[in-house]
Amino acid sequence: MADLDLRALATRIGASEIRLNDNTKTLLSLRGTPRTGLRISLHHQLLQHPDALEDLRLWIQGRTVSPRLRSAIDQVFVSMKETQRATIAPVLEPLNGPLDLQATYRRIHDTWFSHLPIIPIGWARERSGRLRHIRFAAFHRVGARISVNPRVDQPWVARLWVDFLIFHEICHHAQACRPIPGETPHSARFKSWERRFPQWEQAVAWEKAHVDRFLSA
Ligand SMILES: [Zn+2]
Repeated sequence: MADLDLRALATRIGASEIRLNDNTKTLLSLRGTPRTGLRISLHHQLLQHPDALEDLRLWIQGRTVSPRLRSAIDQVFVSMKETQRATIAPVLEPLNGPLDLQATYRRIHDTWFSHLPIIPIGWARERSGRLRHIRFAAFHRVGARISVNPRVDQPWVARLWVDFLIFHEICHHAQACRPIPGETPHSARFKSWERRFPQWEQAVAWEKAHVDRFLSA
């Protein structure tokens, strides 16, 4: 498959040239005209889907993406995300010691939420043993306070992710300060605030990559 003959493929699908790319967004593009020659640029990981590549002929003719070509493109995106996660997740700086909740909260509050009143933050009750699901933190509307799962306090946990966790809960506090009747907790307004966290993608990727480790702790 890796030794797929690109020149033969180009001939079959009606292109003059196929080049490989390592793009992250546009995996497939077409340049030129039938008169001057059609040059295709395609992501190298698409070579792992030779059947789908035969549908490039239809794509060239009508610029329509067949279901199996669409599926191949989607699979390449998924695999790129996985690679990204594997390379991002381990490089974040770990806590390497006890987590100071108050100091973390105050730093995040003062940096991004200084317009909001200070509220209490503390540890939730400890639950031992293996869990099937974990709630890392919560904002309690009644009494306006934040509680954090003690399992978050482990030396290997990324500091950036802890910041994101607290940031998330303070966004809930911000919602409670300016309530909209009937609003769901993770509404569009909430998500737009949450996305302002710098390195949002890295924090989310870190959580996905490490959630299992919290369950067995
Ligand atoms: Zn939430």
